[in-house]
Amino acid sequence: MRVLLVEDDEPIAESLTRGLGRYGFDVEWVRTGAGALEAGPTDLVLVDLGLPDMDGLDVCLELRARSDVPIIVISARADETDRVVGLEIGADDYVSKPFGVREVIARMRAVLRRVRPAAVQSEAKLSSRVVIDRPGRRVHVDGAEISLTPKEYDLLAFLAEAPEAVFTREQIMEAVWDANWFGPTKTLDVHVSALRQKLGDAVSVETVRGVGFRLVLT
Ligand code: CA
Repeated sequence: MRVLLVEDDEPIAESLTRGLGRYGFDVEWVRTGAGALEAGPTDLVLVDLGLPDMDGLDVCLELRARSDVPIIVISARADETDRVVGLEIGADDYVSKPFGVREVIARMRAVLRRVRPAAVQSEAKLSSRVVIDRPGRRVHVDGAEISLTPKEYDLLAFLAEAPEAVFTREQIMEAVWDANWFGPTKTLDVHVSALRQKLGDAVSVETVRGVGFRLVLT
């Protein structure tokens, strides 16, 4: 999935590019509004409002006049008016700085789900043997549905967002258990071992010692 990132702030752009890359997004980064308008076709646009050459809202307007590509405004401006104007001129969502990569990805997924359900549904097939039906929260292995608890499903769905990528225990706890977790993470190990048992050899959840876990397709 291609993402055009329009952002003049280098540290923010670099961390977003790296973060989104880890989740399998292919990011093209431009620093100016002019660069955004010259860029090739993309699946989604993230645009900062404070750009050196033009107002990000004008970039939105111009892009929207040309295509129905999903647009998410990212901005440090606290002004509620910008948010409203951004949405009125055709942006699909708005994220305020500072934000975390996971928050941006959640917004991107929500927007994509809204504007092109087919694109998101196509992500359902994890491998030739495993299919994750995200809207229905169901998992099929070799054609048969396996029974997962809600948290087991959430854990698998989270790891499956980026097969082969390593997620730390803290990232997983925060995403799946929705908590800043500083305590023991034994509950995570319990769920991982249940998943391993239920998935058999179709997918493996590998332990990365001292770090966390990753999903490996087999
Ligand atoms: Ca800026």
